[in-house]
Amino acid sequence: MPRKVVEEFKFDHCPNCGSTHRLAGDAAEGAKKRGFFEKDAEVAIIELRKAMIDLRRISTVLSGSTLPQARCAIDMCTKCGTIYGYLADVCDVPIEELMAEMGPPPGLRGLPDFLGRGG
Ligand SMILES: [Zn+2]
Repeated sequence: MPRKVVEEFKFDHCPNCGSTHRLAGDAAEGAKKRGFFEKDAEVAIIELRKAMIDLRRISTVLSGSTLPQARCAIDMCTKCGTIYGYLADVCDVPIEELMAEMGPPPGLRGLPDFLGRGG
């Protein structure tokens, strides 16, 4: 089950100078031509994600269900240096995808990797 966008906010220009040139966004254009990204991929210097659940309760979520996740893509204007969030959204994300993004639960972090998690 893919993530489903519930709400999306786009800020397509710098709030300080109005330029549409961004550091990672412009740098990614060449990489897209070489096939390193999909043509419509959003590329940012920083991408923040926050699942809308207290991690201590994640074991109570049924397999196959979804949770809301807020996401913000941050880049830098190459005309004036302003760092700003140019894309934000809220998605319904399958719990399995969220758990893969977050890694092992807090109690299992730091254990030797004999559990077959790869790495
Ligand atoms: Zn700017």
